[in-house]
Amino acid sequence: MIGHEWAIEYLHRSLVGGRDAHAYLFVGPPGVGKARLALRFAQALNCEHLEQAPCLKCRTCTRIEHGNYADLRIASMATQAASLKPDEAARQKELKIDTVREWQRDIALKPYEGRRRVFILHDAELLSEGASNALLKTLEEPPAYATLILVANRPTMLPTIVSRCQVLRLRPLPRQTIVRALIGQFDVHEPQARLLAAWSSGSIGWALRAAACPDEVQQRQERLDQLVQLQQQPHSIGFRWAEERSKEYRSGQQQDVLEWLELWQNWWRDVLLISADCPESVTYVDRRAELEQAAQQYNVAQVYAVMQRISEATRQIRENVNPQLALENILLHLPR
Ligand SMILES: [Zn+2]
Repeated sequence: MIGHEWAIEYLHRSLVGGRDAHAYLFVGPPGVGKARLALRFAQALNCEHLEQAPCLKCRTCTRIEHGNYADLRIASMATQAASLKPDEAARQKELKIDTVREWQRDIALKPYEGRRRVFILHDAELLSEGASNALLKTLEEPPAYATLILVANRPTMLPTIVSRCQVLRLRPLPRQTIVRALIGQFDVHEPQARLLAAWSSGSIGWALRAAACPDEVQQRQERLDQLVQLQQQPHSIGFRWAEERSKEYRSGQQQDVLEWLELWQNWWRDVLLISADCPESVTYVDRRAELEQAAQQYNVAQVYAVMQRISEATRQIRENVNPQLALENILLHLPR
């Protein structure tokens, strides 16, 4: 685990003290380590050395690590997609009732080999209504030997689900934590580690992917170039850009479209940070000159208004408003 020491300490103490809950919700932005924490906790619940749990060395810890343990069930959008054709999989927007039923099918059985049977459900913010109700029944009366761990990017599931779980909110990791991990554990050179940590917005998952795959950073740089240029270009170019994103969205690349918006939002946030003389928190540390120029060019009220529009568009797109309209609304009001 990288970071989240308070959560690890909390879970460890409740486990050793025999006060662990039957259901947990680990919630936080993508890539901060929620899935890793869920797996480590599953290991700890069954580890052969309780005091050091998870020891990561015993047979149980090793088998859980390799996905080869009879008392652990994991379901996610990815496991749901695995049984579908690629185009069907791309259109999946929610966790279906069948997926949840299959995941908790034999929850009534006692553990085969471990102390506890652990059920991890990723992407819980995408539970359909039917799936939520199926899950709720289990959460109301979980068997004594079962632990359910829901993992979600946002706590947007039914309040009745959230209230039955012990909620642990994981925050984006501090930049320094990511720099240290990249240098110390993954042999990334310091300047690159600093750049990736700044660009990661606290997501160690993204920083590691980007360290392993330079194309990821390159693609973000190119997207950011396009976004920054939209301000200077005629509306027709902006509208074409909105149309392209809208097509992507309809073809199943929803996450991609939201990432564009996040890149853009971070850019304006950086402009605001430069205007407020807080350069140490800037995300795009390699674009300092451009940011300075933008901070001179636009006043704080203009920057703030764009940021509001971007977050409004993000919310609308998540709620299934036509993405093209939502994006055009930002473009029409860009300061020029
Ligand atoms: Zn162990």
